[in-house]
Amino acid sequence: MTLSRTSALPDALVRLGIEPENSGAFDGAWTTTHGKRYESINPATGELLAVVNEVSTEDYERIAARTAAAFVEWRQWPAPKRGEVVRQLGDALRRHKEDLGLLVTLEVGKIRSEGLGEVQEMIDMADFAVGLSRQLYGLSMHSERPLHRMYEQWHPLGPVGVITAFNFPVAVWAWNSMIAAVCGDPMLWKPSEHATLCSIAVTKIAQKVLEENGAPPIWNLAVGDRHVVGQPLSADRRFPLISATGSVAMGRSIGKVVADRLGRSLLELGGNNGIVVTAGADLDLALRAVLFAAVGTAGQRCTSTRRLFLHKSIAAEMKQKLIRAYGSVRIGDPSDPSTLMGPLIHEKAVADYRDALVRAQEEGGRILCGGKVLDRPGFFVEPTLVEALPHMPITCEETFAPILYLFEYDDLDEAIELHNSVPQGLSSAIFTLDMRAAEKFLSVAGSDCGIANVNIGTSGAEIGGAFGGEKETGGGREAGSDSWKIYMRRQTCTINYGETLPLAQGVHFDV
Ligand code: NAD
Repeated sequence: MTLSRTSALPDALVRLGIEPENSGAFDGAWTTTHGKRYESINPATGELLAVVNEVSTEDYERIAARTAAAFVEWRQWPAPKRGEVVRQLGDALRRHKEDLGLLVTLEVGKIRSEGLGEVQEMIDMADFAVGLSRQLYGLSMHSERPLHRMYEQWHPLGPVGVITAFNFPVAVWAWNSMIAAVCGDPMLWKPSEHATLCSIAVTKIAQKVLEENGAPPIWNLAVGDRHVVGQPLSADRRFPLISATGSVAMGRSIGKVVADRLGRSLLELGGNNGIVVTAGADLDLALRAVLFAAVGTAGQRCTSTRRLFLHKSIAAEMKQKLIRAYGSVRIGDPSDPSTLMGPLIHEKAVADYRDALVRAQEEGGRILCGGKVLDRPGFFVEPTLVEALPHMPITCEETFAPILYLFEYDDLDEAIELHNSVPQGLSSAIFTLDMRAAEKFLSVAGSDCGIANVNIGTSGAEIGGAFGGEKETGGGREAGSDSWKIYMRRQTCTINYGETLPLAQGVHFDV
């Protein structure tokens, strides 16, 4: 596709401080660098929104040093005071919600309500983190020794490197930055090359809040690819934790680099999520859930539904319902409120969609509806249903596009076995009115995923729970519950307030 240049930036972007040409290096000032230039493209039109300059190696070094230096001061701020800064960030995001939500739509093609939903997720994370700032609890234990006291406390861990994917260009920053901030950790953000404007807008909003509070520079940004920022950051010993969201291939590469220096990694990688629909399920409920989870975000969520397991008794009816519903999905301009499905992110994603459908048919699959690339500007494809055979290799991979593979099954054990037979383990769901089936799906012999739902689709998690998955999804947990613990170091303390020195386990060592 040929690029056309926009004549003027949309007002919303101007209000967010986006310029036609932007620096991707923030180290207190937006330094002008002259490395690679990223063209931020609107995937719905192919138009150029603005240009962002990649950081240089020297920029990276300065930004990393500044992040590490900020830790020394920030860790001394009482946690509730850190929470107050995050509270103000939440308020700033409320004020910028419309504009930032629109930027998400323009830069990554999410429909308007999902763009706004991402910003709402940031606000929810802020509220959660503010409360958490007064609840970073440790336990106290009973010592086996007389006149001894034992407890554990949680200290800030250190600077955190955060690497994010294109498809949640602002929310995943919030999952990490808000929790890390109340835990006492500054962070350096390496955003996706396909969502650079979002990262600049967020950093500008956050920076203003820090300045107003006289806080050290805890939210830093380095725009660059894996060579200039991703790998150096993963290998950088100043960052005890690397939190990385993206493909399994990315996680494998980063995981090795971080493990080699015995650092901590929090990996949020690809999914291949399935829904089981049993005999007697509420099919209308299931239909609505499958539609949102498989077609929503054009199938570009880590939690998108990619595999559907239908009991033989309801398979024909459900397929008919799905084909009808797929035919009525409004595809088009994601900023139009009536649109349900926007574009894919770029040309390569369209090629991946095409390739997957060719392979699916070669492996024995049959396209029931969809399957075409739309002949219009932007990266639009049709949502697609494919009748699949068990264990077709393509169905074991994550294709980041709106392709749903349909399987039929006879009994629930068989469906669960097939459901669990893929390498990924992020999100899963069962639609059933049978209490035994629901409980079996949630039992130890049921879904092997990090997320398991009943009568709810696989995507659209709330921030209060710990988010993440097993197997090749990487094992990381972010957002709610006790996910904060990975951003802190645990210290076990024992205090002897007696006059003797008894040893544990009854050991004697008297001279
Ligand atoms: P991607 O793996 O191409 O890139 C993600 C980020 O990692 C980018 O910032 C990229 O520059 C960086 N990167 C890639 N390879 C790297 C390397 N070797 N070293 C250092 N950095 C590297 O992913 P994407 O296309 O942006 O996003 C889609 C993928 O992300 C899907 O697989 C999706 O399932 C996954 N994802 C997972 C979650 C989750 O929470 N589990 C959430 C969102 C997206």
